[in-house]
Amino acid sequence: MSIFVSNLSKNYGQQKAVNNISFSLKKNEIVGFLGPNGAGKSTTMKMITGYLSPDSGEIKVCDHFVSTNSITSKKKIGYLPEANPLYHEMYVREYLFFVANVHAIENKKTRIEEVINLVGLSVESHKKIGQLSKGYKQRVGIAAALIHNPEVLILDEPTSGLDPNQIIEIREVIKKLGEEKTILFSSHIMQEVESICERVIIINKGEIVANSTIDELKSQNKNTHFVAVEFKDVVEKSIFNALNDIINVHQKNNNSFLFETENPDSLRKQLIEWSLHKHVDIISLTSEKQDLESIFKSLTT
Ligand code: ADP
Ligand code: MG
Repeated sequence: MSIFVSNLSKNYGQQKAVNNISFSLKKNEIVGFLGPNGAGKSTTMKMITGYLSPDSGEIKVCDHFVSTNSITSKKKIGYLPEANPLYHEMYVREYLFFVANVHAIENKKTRIEEVINLVGLSVESHKKIGQLSKGYKQRVGIAAALIHNPEVLILDEPTSGLDPNQIIEIREVIKKLGEEKTILFSSHIMQEVESICERVIIINKGEIVANSTIDELKSQNKNTHFVAVEFKDVVEKSIFNALNDIINVHQKNNNSFLFETENPDSLRKQLIEWSLHKHVDIISLTSEKQDLESIFKSLTT
């Protein structure tokens, strides 16, 4: 196993951040670690990389315990932290040289040129980091994470804050790296995960709510449909207690709701009858195709 996490927990004071989670990644797998903000993704990643010690549980990276073999396991890991802290006054090569020194790697110059090529940084590599666009800063962070040629990459929201073109470019970089590395990357965007990897681990409120391939996730949820309704006026959520065929209700705002149901035809009829009976105007009523985004919504709200 490249990454093995067993019964891992972490609290910040009273705040439960990660609650008894277990999962593993095989060599050369790219796995998306998905969850809404505050779900516990960064906390988990900080524990895997050894930046934070767990309250309980075990972590092994390439078969080395992070707790007792922290130096050995850190050598196996390249880590792009969430905020991607960089020295803006440094030139790209100067910074990478600094990081290469920290890792005490040999042939620094050659390796720096290799990683610059690998992440597609060549055209901007003569600049100061502070002069780069966010997408290129992100490439510098990934290059730094790669410099010691680690087996495992932990990328915390590598595309967050990028524009749509930059997002696609960074995704391509991750896919390319995934050909020879094990990658755990976090995101709160389902489509992102779908476009990069086969398997997804979904975390919500510190607990794992799904760990399967995207195909499995889709087939497990194939009988679930979604009906979205928007009313003209504010409507109390409790009125839906009277309706049948509802598995779950997600409130979008005061007057719009998303229903999970196995019977969308019946539910639409019931909503129309109810609104006529109660003289509540419906502005829109639609059946939404079940997609990964809606599965994510239903698992995390
Ligand atoms: P994610 O990366 O999925 O957004 P985090 O792991 O950053 O989630 O946070 C999980 C929970 O722990 C959140 O409720 C967050 O507010 C809390 N948390 C994170 N870091 C700290 C900290 N240093 N001190 C206190 N609470 C924290
Ligand atoms: Mg985070």
